Amino acid sequence: MNGYKDYYSILGVSKDASQKEIRDAYRRLARKYHPDANPGNKEAEEKFKEITEAYEVLSNPEKRKEYDEGRMFAGAGGRGFDFAGFRPGYRTYTFTGDLGDLGGLGDLFDLFSGFGAATGRRREARKGRDIHAEVTISFEDAINGVTVPLTISGRAVCSTCGGSGSRPGTLPKTCPTCGGRGTVSHDQGLFAFSRPCPACGGRGTVIENPCPTCGGTGAVDRVRTVKVKIPAGVKDGSKVRFAGKGEAGPLGGAPGDLYVTVHVKPHKYFKRSDGDILLDLPLTFPEAALGTTVEIPTINGRVKLKIPAGTSDGKKFRLRGKGAPRPKGGGRGDMIVTAHVVVPQRLTPKEKELIKQLKELERENPRAFLEE
Ligand SMILES: [Zn+2]
Ligand SMILES: [Zn+2]
Repeated sequence: MNGYKDYYSILGVSKDASQKEIRDAYRRLARKYHPDANPGNKEAEEKFKEITEAYEVLSNPEKRKEYDEGRMFAGAGGRGFDFAGFRPGYRTYTFTGDLGDLGGLGDLFDLFSGFGAATGRRREARKGRDIHAEVTISFEDAINGVTVPLTISGRAVCSTCGGSGSRPGTLPKTCPTCGGRGTVSHDQGLFAFSRPCPACGGRGTVIENPCPTCGGTGAVDRVRTVKVKIPAGVKDGSKVRFAGKGEAGPLGGAPGDLYVTVHVKPHKYFKRSDGDILLDLPLTFPEAALGTTVEIPTINGRVKLKIPAGTSDGKKFRLRGKGAPRPKGGGRGDMIVTAHVVVPQRLTPKEKELIKQLKELERENPRAFLEE
């Protein structure tokens, strides 16, 4: 074999197929053989490479012509198409959407810009910028999770052209300056340098009929509202990432990410320590000494807590599973209640008299350990 491949039969189209037929055939096959749809399937990966190679050539009128001519040579033992830039076993293209999205033109170009990066002939489509935002939520919302609308501004996908930059109903054309390679070379003495094509910015395609809304950039500055789901159990000051919710990428480039810094408002009486919720529980001396049952609030409603007789100030009670959810299915933290014995500030004469009697009856010296 001389490396000759019949690109027409690989794509299952006739030799006089239109560009649309070629594109439709490729799209159909790419969806079927994309490695993301066939994980670990070497055969599918090879097939995907083959159809992509075929599409690279046949979708480009210049290369197609060259191929058609080469094909005649090939029959006479001549040359196949030169694919020196083609790296076998590459797996570096960027395909961001799911395969169901491949019908969209933007994704087709995504696929290609990444592919070009692998062969070194085109630059990878640039990613949109990340957006940073802040949000303040209540203590309860931090525990339970909450969806908040966030108003952000910046580059967003143009809704007229869907990000392609081309007037609806038209398609970008192969760049006439670089012939779709994305680079141009110029001789300088003994050396030939190659640089990104100035006409298409390295994309290999140019827009002939720019979209009237975005002027061909595929994105517009717009204030938009995104709903972000703050996960349950989020801590004050944490940064939550929302992939793909940042600014739109230029002409089919992947969008940036949205980072939201979450501030949690302090609660009237609850505090947080990681997954645990803390509560200080004031008790009177008789309650602490004699024991009692008190009703206390938890994050999920009120519960009864039994205080045993002889509870000292600072004693902790642990209510299992009544804390904040831990991330990644780690269950819930606990609620920790700390007894806090309160000394009355204003005493009636009767109270004073009773406390004096109590003092006279006292048998325990709490400072015994300080007397050697
Ligand atoms: Zn160009
Ligand atoms: Zn547009």
